[in-house]
Amino acid sequence: MALIVQKFGGSSVASLERVRHVAKIVTDTYIAGNDVVVVLSAQGKMTDRLIALANEYNPRASKRELDQLLSIGEQQSVALAAMCIQGMGFPVVSLNAWQVGFKTNTTYGNARIKKIDTERIQMELDQRKIVIFTGFQGINRRGDITTLGRGGSDTSAVALAAALRADLCQIYTDVDGVYTADPNTVEGARKLDEITYDEMLELASLGAKVLHNRSVEMAKHYHVELEVLSSFTGNPGTKVKEVAKRMEHTQVSGVAKDKSIARIALVGIKNEPGIAFRVFSLLSGKKINVDIILQSIGREEWKDIAFTVARKDLNQAVSLLEEYKSVLGYDGIEVNDHIAKVSMVGAGMIGNPGVASGMFEALYNAGININMISTSEIKISVLVDEKDADRAVQVVHTKFFSEYGSQS
Ligand code: ADP
Ligand code: ASP
Ligand code: MG
Repeated sequence: MALIVQKFGGSSVASLERVRHVAKIVTDTYIAGNDVVVVLSAQGKMTDRLIALANEYNPRASKRELDQLLSIGEQQSVALAAMCIQGMGFPVVSLNAWQVGFKTNTTYGNARIKKIDTERIQMELDQRKIVIFTGFQGINRRGDITTLGRGGSDTSAVALAAALRADLCQIYTDVDGVYTADPNTVEGARKLDEITYDEMLELASLGAKVLHNRSVEMAKHYHVELEVLSSFTGNPGTKVKEVAKRMEHTQVSGVAKDKSIARIALVGIKNEPGIAFRVFSLLSGKKINVDIILQSIGREEWKDIAFTVARKDLNQAVSLLEEYKSVLGYDGIEVNDHIAKVSMVGAGMIGNPGVASGMFEALYNAGININMISTSEIKISVLVDEKDADRAVQVVHTKFFSEYGSQS
């Protein structure tokens, strides 16, 4: 007998028919003799609908009130699923964040998990009940509801699996597993049987939303055995683990894109020590994350610094830089919010310069201009115009994964 955490995303619980199907997967696991903890997302596009509703009432509503509202999506899901499983004659209980003691910090809208009390869940499991828990939500020290950020139910599931020392955490979704690129938009995307935590973390952080990046971070840290699979097909999924078997001859695991970024350039900034420090400490002081940074070689006493931020942080970053213009001493700010980041990830890239040149060649052949480049041991990212992003992913993917493409 094992303890298994099973998480189902929005599309997996979108309708009565889908919830019944989920109930079948869950109860089959239970009948096989396992303890089962289920984590659910809000049904279908419920969270989007709640956000739109909040905007109608007040587009500048506080994040606290937004969390108060958004958390009801998951509560609806767990209660309905529990009713369905009850109807099938199984012992079941639905629980939300404050009933369990799923504690987070106070950052509304993007809360971090601090501690999970396991007593209540353990007590229910000891009575052989199926436990159904609300993903995405937590409770802070004031007793207020928080949410973990969009897509955060994956992180709820992995965190619960770690706290309960579960034997396995299964993330059920609407595709068969982790693919070499988004199978819904990239032709020829292939399912991976296995992928390492490190590669998955890069892919998730670089835009592959099949897993919330913090869920992967947590799985790696707590050695949670993780599997991504479809609630629709029953096909074998993808195992996310410390060491993974590689597809033959491939140095690359996947290609991802992120359109939710913007570029800021500070033009004509003084070429003297301490400038980068001043700019980036100003931004980090307001919790604005900076990603790719490019600094030009100084021309006599002047240089330029360009960097990317999340698009949602753009206005705040620009206002801040404008406010401190005289201290920073630059000529002008140039902003571009029609850009996207396209990235290639793979542990096999280390020490293999052919991979980068293969990527640049594919983009060159497609006439796609590269604005900025950033590399690490297991990834290469390029900044391209947003209008070219989908095509860029496709040509890079074809270059490395098509049967006829060269495996540099
Ligand atoms: P859920 O509601 O189950 O959490 P998500 O929509 O958050 O599902 O994530 C699943 C989606 O992730 C897929 O439908 C797919 O379009 C997208 N996706 C992006 N990149 C990848 C990838 N590399 N592999 C698989 N799916 C991906
Ligand atoms: N319902 C939340 C969202 O749509 C959390 C999740 O689905 O993981 O972002
Ligand atoms: Mg998701």
